[in-house]
Amino acid sequence: MTKRDYYEVLGVSRNASQDEIKKAYRKVAMQYHPDRNPGNKEAEEKFKEAAEAYEVLSSPDKRAQYDRFGHAGMRGSGGFGGGGMRMEDIFTNFGDIFGDDIFGSFFGGGRSQQRHGRGTPGTNLRVKIKLDYAEIANGVNKKIRVKKYITCQQCDGSGAKDKSSFQTCTQCGGSGQVRRVTSTFLGQMQTVTTCPVCNGEGTIVTSKCNNCHGSGRVYGEETVSIDIPAGVQQGMQLSVGGKGNAGERGGAPGDLIILIEEEAHPELQRDGLNVAYDLYISLTDAIFGSQQEVPTIEGHAKIKIPPGTQSGKIFRLRGKGFPALQSNDRGDQLIHVNVWTPQTLSAEERGIFEKLRDSENLKPNPGKSEKSFFDKVRDVFS
Ligand SMILES: [Zn+2]
Ligand SMILES: [Zn+2]
Repeated sequence: MTKRDYYEVLGVSRNASQDEIKKAYRKVAMQYHPDRNPGNKEAEEKFKEAAEAYEVLSSPDKRAQYDRFGHAGMRGSGGFGGGGMRMEDIFTNFGDIFGDDIFGSFFGGGRSQQRHGRGTPGTNLRVKIKLDYAEIANGVNKKIRVKKYITCQQCDGSGAKDKSSFQTCTQCGGSGQVRRVTSTFLGQMQTVTTCPVCNGEGTIVTSKCNNCHGSGRVYGEETVSIDIPAGVQQGMQLSVGGKGNAGERGGAPGDLIILIEEEAHPELQRDGLNVAYDLYISLTDAIFGSQQEVPTIEGHAKIKIPPGTQSGKIFRLRGKGFPALQSNDRGDQLIHVNVWTPQTLSAEERGIFEKLRDSENLKPNPGKSEKSFFDKVRDVFS
């Protein structure tokens, strides 16, 4: 489909002023507004086309770019590429331009869900989610039941008993705004404020929904599915848009804020991207060498302890730590060897060790190859 010229879409000349563009858009948008053309696909396309044209021509930067390069210059800058704008975006971004005459007709038109200027927004909700090490390392989908305000199904959030239960607000005549003239020392000042009777909505509900008593929402429960990416950390917050408390009378819902909590691992200890494990081996395993099984984030791994391993030695399992959030980096697992010195001995064992007491090979003899404690720590973290 070839795109029409934005000026042509709005029916203005190429040197139209911002005011003329705004007026022209308002006119076209009202003509093709979905409430006036229910179920008319062509009108919906025209409505979207006009919004896209207005999006570009109302911004001096984008308009200049469009004037120079045409539609080709808009790629990637407008944010809607070839896909066009979504209806919600149009109402969110340009809702105020329509004014109340068009939004006043919204309810009669039977469109549901939130619309600009209607109702009171819902509040954000915070929930904690506990994750174990494997869930953090791999990312996880969690389905949680959230107790919160949800949209009343009976009135679809409007708070009204039925479609005929709306009346144009008599206080503001449906505009949602009232003018007030006050006297100040500078003379008479006129201020425009939100109509207190209808809360700026332009209509009032004459007969309330008996399920929600007019608020458009009820306290309930919703199961929310949350994709938690790999690599999160204790204290991080994720926001799930629109999953907080439902607004009142069709107001936009709040967000659901997820607070990440790490469940302590019985044997492993997280340290940034790395994970540490204290391995205890016997004196004889240290002397003769052995194979040891160690717990890892994902399960278990076998490591080889070479003969003559000193207490304090740190082995590294590369890539067995945590992944970094949104990156390919991955930490390691560090295994800290502790040689277990026996605490009690039988008479026979005592005899064996007594015999070895003055043995030359049992005397500590750290050579140049033995790294100091500080060197080891430096090696591990470099
Ligand atoms: Zn009013
Ligand atoms: Zn209701």
